Amino acid sequence: MTQFDTYDSLLSSIVAESGDEVKNPATGEVVGIAPSGTPEDMDAAVQRARDAQKAWAKLGEEKRNELLVAAADAVDAAAEPLAELLSREQGKPLNGPNARFEVGACSSWLRVTASFDSPDHTVVEDGETTAKIYYRPLGVVGAIGPWNWPMMISVWQFAAALRMGNTVVLKPSEYTPLSVLALVKVINTVLPEDVLNVVTGGGDVGGALSANAGIDKIMFTGSTETGRRILESTAASLARVTLELGGNDAGIVLDDVNPKEIAEGLFWGAFINTGQTCAAMKRLYVPESIYDDVVEALVEVSKNMPMGVGLEEENVLGPLQNRQQFDIVDRLVKEAKDGGARILTGGDPDYDQPGYFYPTTLVSDIDNDNPLVAEEQFGPALPIIKYSTLDEAIEMANALDVGLGSSVWSADRERALEVAAELEAGTTWINAHGTVDPRIPFGGMKNSGYGLEFGIEGLKGVAYPHVVNG
Ligand code: NDP
Repeated sequence: MTQFDTYDSLLSSIVAESGDEVKNPATGEVVGIAPSGTPEDMDAAVQRARDAQKAWAKLGEEKRNELLVAAADAVDAAAEPLAELLSREQGKPLNGPNARFEVGACSSWLRVTASFDSPDHTVVEDGETTAKIYYRPLGVVGAIGPWNWPMMISVWQFAAALRMGNTVVLKPSEYTPLSVLALVKVINTVLPEDVLNVVTGGGDVGGALSANAGIDKIMFTGSTETGRRILESTAASLARVTLELGGNDAGIVLDDVNPKEIAEGLFWGAFINTGQTCAAMKRLYVPESIYDDVVEALVEVSKNMPMGVGLEEENVLGPLQNRQQFDIVDRLVKEAKDGGARILTGGDPDYDQPGYFYPTTLVSDIDNDNPLVAEEQFGPALPIIKYSTLDEAIEMANALDVGLGSSVWSADRERALEVAAELEAGTTWINAHGTVDPRIPFGGMKNSGYGLEFGIEGLKGVAYPHVVNG
């Protein structure tokens, strides 16, 4: 039994009497009221985090790791209420790679991050010279998270930062403040006071975090445009920045695959979290020799993937999280139709429903320069583009100004590796797409951002290297 073993006890511990009303994107029902924080609240939180940082760093790595594991246990104990709140607020179903999966990922990220060896190492030891690098805490880390995986991405941002001796101030998306408030509430049952802080609200609260002179590092996951604004805000303080921005990931299928065998992997590579995932497959390149077979296999898989209200156990796909994103997907699919593409499934939302449901949409016979291919849809609509030579597919995959993930699908690992070597992306998966792992560094190139999260590289990203020579 924990303090938060029911949905009602968890929700009542975080909601405000007045503030920003949060609605379930599947039904339009009110989930709760989130405090509408102000820039002054943000400044106060940064100050609290600063005041707490030295003592947190002094605890030492072993003790901090123990507390991260205890935080993981607290998340596990409150897993079901957390998943229910996440489902109601974000819209994602409980089942499939969705709400329960996301809460499970939070505790595993905490546990695995606490298990790494220290990144400290000796650079030279030759009898005359001894030089070592020690990774020291930066101070206070500000973390600005998105609405698609609000709990998991917050953990991605703060687990490594805490492990390395920083304190943290979170600024959740105004679309999903309650999920992050609840997660922090649960974790703060085990952490010392003011080590992990959160301020909700919108408008200028994020700016107050990135422009605060007391911030040493910003971790941001979201749009490229806001990433640029954050860099401007941090110019005066020279705070370090990790940017995990959007992508438009390409998947390339080679002509040696069995379409039926890879169809489910392709489907989830594209439609995980109903397509609202930074490193989801957003355009699929298929050779003309097997084009019809791959398209047919994908249509078959999509028929068995129910979409609906998240709390109904049978569903594995949900609504778009917000009206803005629904409108983007709707516009791009209309542009695909106008450009002469074929809509194989979906493309026909019910505009009168209370939720932002956009049906699973597979689009074939589409030109590579159509906006549904060239722009990031961030939703359940996948364009499938035909290619005749592998060189042509690689050229199309690399043509955009983003480079988060990519994937190659082949029965022949050596051929897949040769194609992977040609792709411009932070990660290339082989026979999978978007499968992140707390042990494996993850980050983007081009306009998808820079800096690495996860693994030992992620620990180094929230620390400064202190060289001791002698
Ligand atoms: P944004 O990427 O624009 O980010 C909004 C967040 O950034 C808010 O919390 C906002 O706080 C904060 N912010 C804005 N300006 C600053 C600043 N100068 N300093 C610090 N924080 C700042 O999110 P949207 O929800 O508008 O999504 C837009 C698009 O981003 C989507 O359509 C999608 O394509 C993409 N996206 C990508 C994601 C990914 O995983 N890479 C996730 C979600 C969306 P405040 O309101 O207080 O200013």
